[in-house]
Amino acid sequence: MSAFLEERVLSVHHWTDRLFSFTTTRDPALRFSNGHFTMIGLRINNKPLLRAYSIASANYEESLEFLSIKVEDGPLTSKLQHIKVGDTIVVGRKPTGTLLIDYLLPAKRLYMFSSGTGLAPFMSVIRDPETYEKFEEVILVHGVREVAELAYYDYITKELPAHEFLGEMITKQLRYYPTVTREAYHHQGRITDLIENGKLFSDLGVPALNREQDRIMICGSPGMLRDLKGMLEERGFNEGNTSKPGDFVIERAFAEQ
Ligand SMILES: Cc1cc2nc3c(=O)[nH]c(=O)nc-3n(C[C@H](O)[C@H](O)[C@H](O)COP(=O)(O)OP(=O)(O)OC[C@H]3O[C@@H](n4cnc5c(N)ncnc54)[C@H](O)[C@@H]3O)c2cc1C
Repeated sequence: MSAFLEERVLSVHHWTDRLFSFTTTRDPALRFSNGHFTMIGLRINNKPLLRAYSIASANYEESLEFLSIKVEDGPLTSKLQHIKVGDTIVVGRKPTGTLLIDYLLPAKRLYMFSSGTGLAPFMSVIRDPETYEKFEEVILVHGVREVAELAYYDYITKELPAHEFLGEMITKQLRYYPTVTREAYHHQGRITDLIENGKLFSDLGVPALNREQDRIMICGSPGMLRDLKGMLEERGFNEGNTSKPGDFVIERAFAEQ
């Protein structure tokens, strides 16, 4: 059996000239947990060219969804950005990762801190009813440079609250905090600064981060992960992983070269 599945592209949406998302068919044999990533890519000269991608769709959905950067000279995304409906992409059969609510100890509140395409795994986690059973309050923070990069803004603010099955939980329990660094916007600044200066918490009307009430998932650049991990450890939070649940879990949104 091949290590890869071949899936057909069902839709493509270009958010900006640096960001797009797409959906594909899903082999029912592909099992994953919400928050997982897997290897995906294209066959180039009959060889698979693959990169790690978070699965943005929830694990009960019939199709798969991915949110992707376009790196101008990136080996994969310089080509992947041109995919069209009907094209074939390769999907690894072994999703994995640490951004699972199972790897967090129970608490009142769940924060998801994301930057750029780091939003992707959380699009899956916020569509999981178990997230709202485990946590009373769910706060999704998405940091980007420009307003146009706030992918899924309308989906999160309009479609999800009206969702047939999730709508009530989303309306009562999900809070969404988009923040922009390089343009005027009603929430501005880097996530680390908004935590340090307390603005995030005063805007949301919640207490500052504390280990008794809060659990945290982080997906962003290696620099953001490093900074946030340090800030959390200073506040007494312990990192969880696939073998031992903790107070926070982290995953890179991409690797630095
Ligand atoms: C665990 C994990 C999950 C990932 N999930 C996603 C995802 O859901 N969506 C996604 O677009 N990418 C994701 N990535 C990054 C992805 O694997 C590739 O790096 C990306 O698709 C670019 O591939 P490439 O071959 O074109 O360029 P690469 O040679 O892979 O990357 C070139 C350079 O581009 C920059 N870069 C790469 N990816 C990003 C990004 N997402 N945001 C900002 N800068 C970037 C980095 O500086 C990198 O060194 C993930 C990476 C890891 C490790």
